[in-house]
Amino acid sequence: MSDPRHFWMPFTPNRSFAKQPQVLVRAEGMHYWSDDGNKLLDACSGLFCCALGHGRPEILEAIAEQYQRLDFSPPFRYAQPAAFELADVLAHMMPSRLDRIFFTNSGSESVDTALKIARLYHNAAGEKQRHRFVSRDRGYHGVNFGGVSVAGMEKNRENFGPGIPGVLHKRHTAIETNRLTPGQAENGADLADDLQEFVDTHGADTIAACIVEPIAGSTGILVPPKGYLERLREICDEHGILLIFDEVITGFGRTGKAFAAETFGVVPDIITVAKALTNGAVPMGAVAVRRDIHERITSSAPDGAIEFFHGYTYSAHPLACAAGLATQRIFREEGVFERAAQLAPYFQERIFELQDLSAIKDIRGYGLLAGIDLAPGDRAGDTGTAVLKRLFANNLVVRVTNDTIILAPALVAEREHIDRICDILRTTLASR
Ligand code: PLP
Repeated sequence: MSDPRHFWMPFTPNRSFAKQPQVLVRAEGMHYWSDDGNKLLDACSGLFCCALGHGRPEILEAIAEQYQRLDFSPPFRYAQPAAFELADVLAHMMPSRLDRIFFTNSGSESVDTALKIARLYHNAAGEKQRHRFVSRDRGYHGVNFGGVSVAGMEKNRENFGPGIPGVLHKRHTAIETNRLTPGQAENGADLADDLQEFVDTHGADTIAACIVEPIAGSTGILVPPKGYLERLREICDEHGILLIFDEVITGFGRTGKAFAAETFGVVPDIITVAKALTNGAVPMGAVAVRRDIHERITSSAPDGAIEFFHGYTYSAHPLACAAGLATQRIFREEGVFERAAQLAPYFQERIFELQDLSAIKDIRGYGLLAGIDLAPGDRAGDTGTAVLKRLFANNLVVRVTNDTIILAPALVAEREHIDRICDILRTTLASR
């Protein structure tokens, strides 16, 4: 038996985990199996990644075939066919004109890449002073320095020094008046005017971009009020500010369409994705950029010069591209996004039925995403941790942030899976 202490676990209370480990050893379809042989229902698509459920043989075959043909090729100054193919597939899925695709290996890398692109775009037009980013409280944009700087999560930022300067945070949209509102609330579009206030205070000509998750995922599924994203778009247009949608969670069918941009009818200038891009089988992220942004940047460099001094050893890794192509093919051929759109109302209805439980303070949801706030204990996060453990014991795998349970079942889930998720939640939360 290997010594478990060598593994430093991410975003985990390592010492208490060691006392009561939760170890998953196998997965198939909608289920995991733990090391003690229990079969657990996966209510969070792994970590929002496995939209098709686990272990799709087509993805395995695509990866194996790619490995035999071309295991790795250097991504700087060389390319391989699957990269062109996957970029082409994504370009055709993206909202119009966001058809230049930069590959990364994670959501965090996608975010930092997008932030750099935004500054570079303004630099290329001689507007170097546009360095600020506007983001939002309770936003999550990964863990690299750019991402934690723009994210609105104190704990992810404190103790790591100053981060990147010039970031301004708007207020979040989970306001008390919208408690227990299914879908998009009527109130709160005016919260987008925080961006206008920053423009008035700091000058539009200092702001490079506004970055938001269309639905804030990791801090508990904060659905945008009606008109909120539209208002952000208007303000950005008026002042030459780029709008970045971080769709690392909402991308690939989670809201019933390929992207939340399409669902909400608001087209940003840049979209970041990761997670379900490859169904979680191989790490990969991507940044989709408006064509004219790409053109401005590339044409500003002298002919023959590198235009963007940025990239990763594993950008467009052949195995990730193969997994991405196989995943996107299944999404298309099996009408997975349409299926998700059909299942979503049932999921939302069943989740909101839980609101009679006294352990629950608020529920928010959209598409196949839901956040359930639990009544907190003496210390923030303790209730969430305890509930996560009890749900695991009752054979349900969820994501917990602080005292909020987050649900994101696979897009291929059946009604019976939703029923089971709700039954386990009810039994577990009622017995507190
Ligand atoms: N952006 C958003 C909106 C996310 O939800 C996440 C992860 O959950 C990230 C970025 C970071 O992605 P990763 O963990 O792949 O770096």
